Amino acid sequence: PFQMVHHLMELNIFPTLTQLLDEDVAKKVSARMGFEIQTERKERHGPPPPAPKVVEEPPPAPEVTPDLQLRSPVVAFLGHVDHGKTTLLDAIRHTRVAAGEAGGITQHIGAYTIHHGGKSITFIDTPGHEAFTAMRARGASITDIVVLVVAADDGAMPQTIEAIDHARAANVPIIVAINKIDAPGANPLRVKTQLQERGLAPEEFGGETIFCEVSALKGKGIDHLLEMILLQAEVLELRALFDGPAVGRVIEAQMETGRGPTASILVQKGTLRPGDVVLCGPYWGRVRALINDLGKTVREAGPSTPVKVTGLSGLPSPGEELLVESDERRVRQIAEERLALLKRPRQEVGPKVTLENLFAAIAEGQRKTLHLVLKADTQGSIEALVGQLEKIPSKKVELSVIHSAAGPVTESDILLAKASEGIVIGFNVKTDSSAAAAAKREGVQIKLFSVIYELVDQVRDAMAGLLEPEL
Ligand code: GDP
Repeated sequence: PFQMVHHLMELNIFPTLTQLLDEDVAKKVSARMGFEIQTERKERHGPPPPAPKVVEEPPPAPEVTPDLQLRSPVVAFLGHVDHGKTTLLDAIRHTRVAAGEAGGITQHIGAYTIHHGGKSITFIDTPGHEAFTAMRARGASITDIVVLVVAADDGAMPQTIEAIDHARAANVPIIVAINKIDAPGANPLRVKTQLQERGLAPEEFGGETIFCEVSALKGKGIDHLLEMILLQAEVLELRALFDGPAVGRVIEAQMETGRGPTASILVQKGTLRPGDVVLCGPYWGRVRALINDLGKTVREAGPSTPVKVTGLSGLPSPGEELLVESDERRVRQIAEERLALLKRPRQEVGPKVTLENLFAAIAEGQRKTLHLVLKADTQGSIEALVGQLEKIPSKKVELSVIHSAAGPVTESDILLAKASEGIVIGFNVKTDSSAAAAAKREGVQIKLFSVIYELVDQVRDAMAGLLEPEL
């Protein structure tokens, strides 16, 4: 986008993010960026707007009189390891059998839907904030509600805190499930007090966060948890367009004998049907079959429904978007071009957001907040640093420490920074080797310091536009 904006400005056009360009301008800019424009005449939605299309990325179809209907919530489980996320997911899955819903063998397709009191909830099957944020880093926001699982006998742990920060950075509401209330030493009150200190106060303490006490192992409190999820969903009023071509996201994909490449898709809007021509990252296909989470072949899948798709030309990555398009030739062409692009040796692009280019981005109106992930050697250093950083005066830039913790820079920090378009700052810490690789791959800047005032000065200079670009 930077580059595109640059070319546009040379043509004396100062675009906003959603501005439509006329055909001539679009052609000129794409030519400069090495793309060719093809003009498409849409047939599906009445008279065609003369919308020029850049071949690389088809813009979303214009929404004609959005007839939005309520859709089910999509829920992810986050929390410290061993606090019972997987057991809870299984316990909820089993409520199906009790409800006489089974009728098929539950298939692992990356997510599943249960029905409760006439409503539905979809649960993402891979728990943990790593998976949650990895999806976000791919641009896929599929989760509506986070259930934070905390073991009553263990209390809030480092990954509990990390999970809270990841959910907050995503702006997704949190419901707390205090699990293992059956365990010896269970102390739900202590969990509530600990979380209150993190800004998650239960209603009984005058806060607004929903807390549920459950035992995943004994199947206790599950109904109540489901009801609270539905209550939260009602407040959120989640809506989507049910008619029209489907748009979804890949949850996972795999090769299956006899089926070829399969991808589990969470439909986000529209309705997906067998026979639809789809574009999914660098692959395409005509949907051969749709298989639901009970292993049954279905004839359609609407918003918030997870479904396995067969008929794709290859294995897309999780988080990739799936679009239904009517023009098979065009879909195939885009897929082939994307694939060719992937196979070209990648030129190093460097991080998109850096301390050095922050001010330019602000001046161009592209950014108002500097999102920081802060890692340091001790909790004491963290507190000192946050205290100093918060004191930096700035009218133009807001500073937001989206996550801070003691410990080395990890891959999960990189993904969080990527998903929030922020940078990672380390003080007296090292970078995990997997984090270093992730930073390079994702284009995230890591800045390491060992002197407090140098760190604070650099951030201050960046916020004031005084940093020299890095060579
Ligand atoms: P995850 O790492 O968060 O997915 O945790 P798991 O679901 O794998 O659970 C970790 C351990 O806690 C397992 O040994 C479970 O049997 C146990 N566990 C999970 N839920 C409960 C519960 O409600 N009560 C008790 N006592 N143990 C539980």
